[in-house]
Amino acid sequence: MPSKAFLLLSLFAFGMLSSTHAESTDDQLYWMKLKAHSKFERSVIADTGVAIETIADDFVTATGTQTELRRLEKMNFVEVSFPVQTDTKDFPAGDGAFHDEARLKAAMDELVRKYPTLVRISSVGKTVEDRDIWALRISGNLAKAEQLPGIIYMGGHHAREHLSVETPLRIWEILLERYAQGDERVRTLIDGRDIHLIPAVNPDGLAYDVESGRYRSWRKNRTQNDNNTYGVDLNRNYDYAWGTTGASPSPSSETFRGKSAFSEPETRAIRDYVEAHENITVLLSFHTYSQLILYPWGHTYTSIANDADRRVHETMARTMAQWNGYTPMQSSGLYTASGDATDWSYGVHGIISFTFELDPGRWGGGGFYPGAGAIPATVQKNIEPVLYLLEHAANPYGVIQ
Ligand SMILES: [Zn+2]
Repeated sequence: MPSKAFLLLSLFAFGMLSSTHAESTDDQLYWMKLKAHSKFERSVIADTGVAIETIADDFVTATGTQTELRRLEKMNFVEVSFPVQTDTKDFPAGDGAFHDEARLKAAMDELVRKYPTLVRISSVGKTVEDRDIWALRISGNLAKAEQLPGIIYMGGHHAREHLSVETPLRIWEILLERYAQGDERVRTLIDGRDIHLIPAVNPDGLAYDVESGRYRSWRKNRTQNDNNTYGVDLNRNYDYAWGTTGASPSPSSETFRGKSAFSEPETRAIRDYVEAHENITVLLSFHTYSQLILYPWGHTYTSIANDADRRVHETMARTMAQWNGYTPMQSSGLYTASGDATDWSYGVHGIISFTFELDPGRWGGGGFYPGAGAIPATVQKNIEPVLYLLEHAANPYGVIQ
């Protein structure tokens, strides 16, 4: 049995504990604490379709459906589970500093207005619900940007990971201001690079998670599936070893991989955008949470075969960890999962690719909803990693020479 302190802490951290009843349909999401002592056990858990959120030495926390919970109970993994009730923290009232979809667009427009020679905005494609997926292109030489080393920063693949939208947006607000103030290092880098920023890959999910005024703890996009459930996990839908490990075939699952690779308009838009910019050498995909720096592979325990590529990823991850204090590791060191953006960008295009799992470190810090107070520190500690990747986009292999 869990201790009373544990239960109270969980109640405090999530504000999601239901004291009344648990619904019996697969619409009800469950939070679980699961026994797991190795990446192998964690991969078994991930293969059931639950979304693993945090990892400790001897347990993980995850969210999943009732069907998945029952299966994990039979496999004797479950220590604690609660039905997730997402009716406590309001957005934006409690977390007004976060950008909803409309205010995100306004913030991006504002950057174009303030820095017309440095910033352009464009739609990279439409979502399931016909929203635009907006990208900023930033360079001191926009006319010749295609001839410069390119880098892409993305956030918001997963709807409830609001800090993954805030962080890249605010870092670029800060860096553009530094440019305007004459910061030599920032000026040189922005003048010499072709920078792409897509803060919200999944604006439908972002809107759905907050539009009722209550967080819904939504992860996926808003595709209507055949069984009348909603959503595909966009970070399991990219076409590299698609559908092999840690990505559920079940539409109800938090990690539903989709009917086929690139079945979703959002992932196709990212694919087409990246493929239209062959100068992109580095990719950084922001997620929350756990304070990790991850690099390929995700779908297999095997390391990157190309020795130079492997060393570049390892060296860069280690270096960036000095600034943000996150833990660097190969993605599958957590558990195996296929179809994510970085396995695809590296595996298909050879782009040096990272996933950051931002703050907080543990579910006790607020999980997906740490509150607006978490924004400033998360932004500050990730400015230097963003600049470092920008600098080395010109020659990523320079870090191992
Ligand atoms: Zn995520």
